[in-house]
Amino acid sequence: MIQFSPPHIDKKIIDEVIDSLKSGWITTGPKTKLFEKRITEYCGNQNTLCVSSATAGLELVLRWFGVGPCDEVIVPTYTYCATANVVAHCGAKPVMVDIGEDFNINTKNILKAINKNTKVIIPVDLAGFPCDYDEIYNVVEKKKSLFEPTGEIQKKLERILILSDAAHSLGAVYKNKKTGNLADISVFSFHAVKNLTTAEGGAIAFNLPQPFNNEEIYNYFNIYTLHGQNKDALAKTKIGNWKYDVIMPGYKANMPDILAAIGLIELERYEREILPKRKFIFDTYKNILSSYNWAIIPEYENGIKISSYHVFLLRIKDISEETRDSIISRIFEKQVSVNVHFQPLPLLSYYKNNGYNINDYPISYKKYANVISLPVYYNLSEEQISVVTHAVIDSVEEELNS
Ligand SMILES: *Cc1c(COP(=O)(O)O)cnc(C)c1O
Repeated sequence: MIQFSPPHIDKKIIDEVIDSLKSGWITTGPKTKLFEKRITEYCGNQNTLCVSSATAGLELVLRWFGVGPCDEVIVPTYTYCATANVVAHCGAKPVMVDIGEDFNINTKNILKAINKNTKVIIPVDLAGFPCDYDEIYNVVEKKKSLFEPTGEIQKKLERILILSDAAHSLGAVYKNKKTGNLADISVFSFHAVKNLTTAEGGAIAFNLPQPFNNEEIYNYFNIYTLHGQNKDALAKTKIGNWKYDVIMPGYKANMPDILAAIGLIELERYEREILPKRKFIFDTYKNILSSYNWAIIPEYENGIKISSYHVFLLRIKDISEETRDSIISRIFEKQVSVNVHFQPLPLLSYYKNNGYNINDYPISYKKYANVISLPVYYNLSEEQISVVTHAVIDSVEEELNS
């Protein structure tokens, strides 16, 4: 069976983890801090804090910004549930808007959705392809007079916060800048299936404009993710430095060194080995499948954007959701794992039961109904790529001729 997205764990990663285990320091410490520094150098943003997951990171940013009941946060319908769930956690309303041809949030729909209650927009770089950040900033600027700030932080920004869900897009490029450096704040995920993994984990990349001081905000979030305790465990190991204070009821969302150890090695290889391999797989799928007139190949590079090649979203022209599902069964029968990214949020019970209707999001539904995500991972061999493409081609043709 060809798996969908197994992790690539080799001796170098194992040795780095063992080094942490033997070092006597297993929770947040030197490796996590070094990993943060390396991410910042790689992305070119101001400061980066590692956290326990992207979900925790997104939620903490919303809470820091003061998002609560009566507030609205604009999210795309086409995303993983985490993007909207964090808004619900804060008691605010996720305002869902439909996507465009590239699977990303449509800026025109954002413009229509903004009102005086809108506090944050969470664009998602779906499948690793960056959103149109310049356009999103323009829309926010255009609607600036509607913004009604509550609290010091919102007054300081004087506009809607742009919080990028960059769970898929580490290393992707928009107008010569990397993600992490495109929105006010961006959040990466290092979950097991993401491009770069620490098993579980995430990072908050700060890139706030003047007059914010990103280093101060980093320091604040560092404490915020450790119960509001003003000295972390490492600082407390210094002789006589046992006493600490709690300056707010913070959360517990730090990343341990054992996991940062995996991330350090992954990041070392990311630009030179991991991304080129993923691009090779994308290019091969594209080259082979684009000769079939039923295939719609996803956009993953253009004059201003380069994807991080996270998910290959193949679409099959003019088929129904039922036909897509049968094709997927046929592919699995040929010992190849595929997937669907994503079920638009209004199809999920919780959101459906709370008044979101898929009929209001026709593009999301249309894309979801005929999409199949193909396996993309470091250890996928050329032979396996060929097995995948044959399984897909045969399954589609069997189904279309049945
Ligand atoms: C995976 C994912 C998340 C959540 O990441 P975690 O690190 O698992 O919390 C958020 N948004 C999107 C779009 C994702 O795919």
